[in-house]
Amino acid sequence: EPADERPRFTDPHDVLRRVFGYDAFRGEQQEIVEQVVGGGDALVLMPTGGGKSLCYQVPALVRDGVGVVVSPLIALMQDQVDALRALGVRAGFLNSTQSPDERRDTERAFVSGELDLLYLAPERLKVESTVRLLDRGRIALFAIDEAHCVAQWGHDFRPDYLLLSELHTRWPDVPRIALTATATEATRTEIAERLQLTAAKHFVASFDRPNIQYRIVGKNEPRKQVLELIRGEHPGEAGIVYCLSRKSVEQTAEFLTAQGMTALPYHAGLDASVRRENQARFLREDGVVMVATIAFGMGIDKPDVRFVAHLDLPKSVEGYYQETGRAGRDGLPSTAWLAYGLPDVVQQRKMIDDSEGDAAHKRRLALHLDAMLALCETVACRRAQLLRYFGQELGGDASSAGGSRVDTACGNCDTCLNPVSSWDGTVPAQKVLSTVWRLKNERRQSFGAVHVIDILLGRRTAKIEQFDHDQLSVFGVGSDLTEPQWRSVIRQLVARGMLAVGGAHSTLVFTEDSPAVMRGDTPVMFRTEPERAARSRTRSGT
Ligand code: ADP
Ligand code: ZN
Repeated sequence: EPADERPRFTDPHDVLRRVFGYDAFRGEQQEIVEQVVGGGDALVLMPTGGGKSLCYQVPALVRDGVGVVVSPLIALMQDQVDALRALGVRAGFLNSTQSPDERRDTERAFVSGELDLLYLAPERLKVESTVRLLDRGRIALFAIDEAHCVAQWGHDFRPDYLLLSELHTRWPDVPRIALTATATEATRTEIAERLQLTAAKHFVASFDRPNIQYRIVGKNEPRKQVLELIRGEHPGEAGIVYCLSRKSVEQTAEFLTAQGMTALPYHAGLDASVRRENQARFLREDGVVMVATIAFGMGIDKPDVRFVAHLDLPKSVEGYYQETGRAGRDGLPSTAWLAYGLPDVVQQRKMIDDSEGDAAHKRRLALHLDAMLALCETVACRRAQLLRYFGQELGGDASSAGGSRVDTACGNCDTCLNPVSSWDGTVPAQKVLSTVWRLKNERRQSFGAVHVIDILLGRRTAKIEQFDHDQLSVFGVGSDLTEPQWRSVIRQLVARGMLAVGGAHSTLVFTEDSPAVMRGDTPVMFRTEPERAARSRTRSGT
């Protein structure tokens, strides 16, 4: 008999109270726990902060044997295990960062039944010795965390996750619970298929995060804009600023630091020790702004992140939802703010073109981007659109605090707070496309958005003179709109695939849909750019 044998629990509520110190299960936790304790499979969709961990930790303590948790978050395993040990739970992990000694100790504890939970990196399953090890112990359940990583259709596919289909074949009697904070209906179906979770019960929590105010603004001077956001609305508060590139992470962190903020960089190019230190300061100190690539954040449990700002366009709605979901886990009012402009669209489209992978893969990436752009360009409620993307509707049980909430407007996003009108842009769209068409067909030339706008506005710039573009019949036909309005028109045309940006010089080119728009056969409605971002917080305190 091992010395540290702990009392056996048979009742999930006992575990909840005596081990974790909580009074009651939240949301669907109890049903999920009962399903797994009873030996059934479960597929759990719960937003970040919803309380997924307890869904497998409690059954692991109730059932005989060790709960095996597969997680890609290697960097967090030590912290997770430490936190569990502090509660008296016997936990260990196996991943590539360990010394052989540590690994042997954990393996011995697993085989002799001295563990309640074993965290495992998915790539461990490639190694036959891991499979043999698992065969020598008694397994209470398999928990597959971040289960969306198994879906090729999703935005975060990890090939090692495909190995997880073996679990069921090899250990058909062990219940499995797959968990994720992000999955559209299509991704969910794929998870169930790939993991052979066909008999699993699905638990889908509401994805609504009513305390997060969603705002998407036009990008002019992103660093200044984010500075204004932090100074104006979140001074001295903790937040995350996401940037696409490492360079932009460093420059933005320097800029904010020069403005007197505690802003720390985080990206995969930094030393592991620097990343660890910056992450620790973000978690420990008050009011730290983490400027990061998307390498930062998965599994970070900091309840009082007051804002998440994106200075570049996320690649998918799933990614955006997951990243913004790190704000306001304590339920208090928080801001999800994104600045985006035409260069973002151009850059992302180019990255897709240049990406490796077959045509189907590129098409998937393009569809992800299109959905993200549609969210940016919508004139309707952002939250409603976000939820619809995940197959859900506004105004579930979370709406009670908001009073009479109509099911199409949340009252706490920029488009709800400052309704955006739309306008008939059919004629301006024709003007832009005619200009692009004439350049191409009369001059065999193509130019970028800046020059096309100069032509429309009838500006006699050096470049216009050089190319005699004041001779084009479209020269000056766009003086009814301002330059920002034309930028907005072109951005929205590109966002909708009615115009494209291509080539080494990012010039405007036609798409399949362009001719119909140019002829006026496809009416186009554009969103009117608001002058200022939404500021008020009508739902604070809920
Ligand atoms: P997720 O993995 O879904 O992002 P976690 O499992 O990390 O969420 O839980 C988020 C937070 O909520 C944690 O601090 C956790 O301790 C807390 N929590 C989870 N379930 C309960 C509960 N039933 N009662 C009180 N707190 C809970
Ligand atoms: Zn809204």
